[in-house]
Amino acid sequence: MGMRGLETCRLAFDTEIPDEAILVRPGMALHAIGSALIYERLSTAALMLGALDLALLVTATHLRRRKQFGVPLYEHQALRLRLADLIARTALARRGVHATVAEFSAAGVVNMCEVAGVKVTVARLAEHVASECAHLFGGHGYVEDETRFPQLLRDIRVGRVGGGTDEMMWELAAKGMRTDDALYDRWVRS
Ligand SMILES: Cc1cc2nc3c(=O)[nH]c(=O)nc-3n(C[C@H](O)[C@H](O)[C@H](O)COP(=O)(O)OP(=O)(O)OC[C@H]3O[C@@H](n4cnc5c(N)ncnc54)[C@H](O)[C@@H]3O)c2cc1C
Repeated sequence: MGMRGLETCRLAFDTEIPDEAILVRPGMALHAIGSALIYERLSTAALMLGALDLALLVTATHLRRRKQFGVPLYEHQALRLRLADLIARTALARRGVHATVAEFSAAGVVNMCEVAGVKVTVARLAEHVASECAHLFGGHGYVEDETRFPQLLRDIRVGRVGGGTDEMMWELAAKGMRTDDALYDRWVRS
């Protein structure tokens, strides 16, 4: 569908792995892969943000340049408010990703459940924002020869699958949910 540069193919293993080639203790593979996936999930989120920065900048420029009904699209309040909302939500997501990466870089560890939550939220936001930006280009956003939005929409879709699907990310985030019985007892009248 997109991301055609990815070398994705079927693999078949027809050999035994010798002891000296084993990377982690038997039984610990999932744990080892889990740590590597932190990098993958944060880089997927960063990749999505990069694509959104581009899409939002091009779209803001388009609203200034294209005229309809005698004025630039920007002058139509409905359009500039929608774009402002997309920009604000993307800025919030960017701060979330940057803060998580900074914490990981400084401490060398980070909460996997939070990373999963960041990744799924950013990936879903990216799909929404890219689609809305394409919409603000009208038909031009849909036609392959006129803008790169069709390719962007195909490429960005991988964010919700690569490094773990939305549902797997939510499962992880759910595992990290905190509870507080004392707070509950104060707040909930029985
Ligand atoms: C081009 C490409 C590149 C990729 N690159 C990478 C990569 O580099 N690293 C990486 O980690 N992943 C990568 N992925 C993702 C990975 O290969 C899998 O596609 C992904 O983990 C989902 O597994 P699946 O395709 O077997 O889907 P399935 O497991 O068959 O899932 C199908 C659907 O059911 C949902 N589902 C499945 N089980 C449950 C459940 N128990 N509860 C709720 N919902 C469930 C899934 O979320 C999904 O929506 C890539 C995928 C593609 C297409």
